[in-house]
Parts: sequence; C-alpha cells; structure tokens
Amino acid sequence: MSKHFQLDGNYVRYEFSEFGGKFSPVNYDMPIPTGSEVLLKVDFCGVCHSDVHVHEGYYGLGQGRKLDLGERGIKLPVTLGHEVVGTVVSMGEKVEEVSVGQQKLIYPWIGCGECSVCQRGEENLCTKPGSLGVFKPGGYSEYILVPHQRYLESLGSLNPANASLLACSGLTTFSAIKKIQPVHNEEFVVVVGCGGLGQLAIKTLVLSGIENVIAVDVSEEKREIAKSSGAKFAFDPRDEKIAELVAEAGNGNCIAVLDFVGNDQTMEFGLGVLRKGGKFVAVGLHGGEIRYPIPFLITKAISIIGSYTGTLGEMKELVEFANKHDLVNIPVEIRPLEQAESAVEDLSAGRVPGRIILKNG
Ligand SMILES: [Zn+2]
Ligand SMILES: [Zn+2]
Repeated sequence: MSKHFQLDGNYVRYEFSEFGGKFSPVNYDMPIPTGSEVLLKVDFCGVCHSDVHVHEGYYGLGQGRKLDLGERGIKLPVTLGHEVVGTVVSMGEKVEEVSVGQQKLIYPWIGCGECSVCQRGEENLCTKPGSLGVFKPGGYSEYILVPHQRYLESLGSLNPANASLLACSGLTTFSAIKKIQPVHNEEFVVVVGCGGLGQLAIKTLVLSGIENVIAVDVSEEKREIAKSSGAKFAFDPRDEKIAELVAEAGNGNCIAVLDFVGNDQTMEFGLGVLRKGGKFVAVGLHGGEIRYPIPFLITKAISIIGSYTGTLGEMKELVEFANKHDLVNIPVEIRPLEQAESAVEDLSAGRVPGRIILKNG
C-alpha cells in the first residue's frame, strides 16, 4: 500500500533505445511506490558530460580501444539524468521522514546497500550499481522513483535549479578536493581543465581556504574566468615552457593536481609538476592511458587517485557547504525537458558555454 494520494495515468520519459540513437518521449504507467520507495515529480535535471558518454555507449581507453558500457551492464532503453531536484508526490508505507510537497535533491549513485563498500557508505563504488540516470531511469523524465528516503536531501536556501548540479558535478569536485586535503598554506594545487567542473573546483578550493591555485586550460576565456574565480595563476598548456612556468609559479611546491580532462597529455603533465609526496587526482574521462616511470612513483612517493562522483555523506556535507558559501550561484541555461536530446547534442558538440538545466513543466 502506498501512502498519500495516488497519481493516475501516464507520464513521459525521454529515452533512447540504442546507444547513439534518437531520444523518444515514451509513455509509462505512473509507478506506485511501495515499502521504502519515494516518487518525485522532476522539477529540474542538470545535463552532465557523462550523459554524453552514456548516450554514446563507451569511454575511450586510448589507442582506439573502447570501454563498452552495454557490456558493463547498462540496459537499453536508457533514461538519462542524474542531477535531479524533484518534489515528493507519493511514497511507500515505510517512509517516515519525508512528506508530500517537499522539494529534494536526489543522490543518484545508488549501490546494492548490502556489500561491504555500501556498508562503509561508499555506494558510488558498489559493484552492483543501481545509479539513477544510468542503470535505473533518471531525470530526463516527468517523474522519478527513488528506492529510499535516505537518498533525498533538503536544499536549504539554495536555488533549486542550480542545486541540481550538486548531485554530480558539485559532488565530483567536492569529493576530489577532499582526497587532497589537508593542504598547507604554502602548498599549491593545480587545476587542469577549467570547464564547468574545473571552475567549480577552483571556487570550492578558494572557499575552503586553499588559495594557492594554478589553473591550466587551452582556452584564454576559461583562463580568465579561472582567475576571476580565484586562481592565482592561469597558464596555457600548449606553452613550450609550461612545466617550468607551473613549477616556478608554485615555488616547486605543487602538492596536488586535479585533472578534469583526463587524457594522455594531462596525466603526463600533471604527474610531471608534482613535488615529492604529491597527489594526482584523475577525474576527467576523456580517455587514454598512463605511462609513468615506476621508480619516480616510488622515490617521489606520488599517489595516483581515481575519483568517481562521491558518497552520500559527502553530498550532505556539500549541500551544507553550498548553503554557507553560496557555491552554486553561477550562470546556467534553463531549457524545457522536452529538449533533452538537443541539450545532450549541444554539450557533445562543445556548443554549451555553461551548464544546461532541464526544467519540467
Ligand atoms: Zn553494494
Ligand atoms: Zn554527471
């Protein structure tokens, strides 16, 4: 039995039924939440770069090799959308802590809930993922079913459209930054790639009190924005002397690199500028592979850390941080939900300067 009012009729999901294929609006019967499930009307859903990869159906592994996402358990048809803010409309009988009409940010990186990794609170790393918008229907839809109330977080005073990006882009940068802390006052952090995630990282670093930030990006415009977000230096990686410039700017004291691009060149560059004991955090998924001399890894005691989204606990911490520091007060472009397909296409083609957020109704 479901608590509260029952919605009748159908709702629409914008889904694709083959990788790389067209999105179609498809009618579904309105789900009836049972047990611990919560049904929400989608209010806003961010369009994330990983939606482009899931739609394409692969990640590049370097030298033309691909990681096939169909073989990784993503079942067609897929309803994308993992940055969702929605309003609770009904819930199963075991749900106690939320009520109809509340607007919530949804944590999408859901695991099995039972394995040791999930028990430790790292559901985003579960080997049986049930992530919303990847393995389960996401927010390119009028309604979304969430398996448990614990995945719903209140927004506080955040703008609900902008708050949607905390579920993935915000969380991804926040979790990557947590992996390099603590950073001493004299140490420098290098941010490679100053698109949406990189800019958010620079802002988060500075607001966290880490002010020695060096930004690296090929785009002059993005380097300028990086500086206005608080980066002390910004360099073009195509500069012949880039390694020397970064080493000099950072007084040879670059303790961490956050790589939001993630290809052969950015990895090689990032590992090269780190001081002894430095940490390289790989976040970007452009694809490629690492070649790095093992003796350097050991004698410089370098850590190479992959960072994928973040935990539920980190998202809760981030929402609090964002409320305190007005983190998501950034320009976004709102488009109607019906335009999900063209939004993904535009993002894929690099035609999007900022963030696109889909609005339902
Ligand atoms: Zn698990
Ligand atoms: Zn994402």
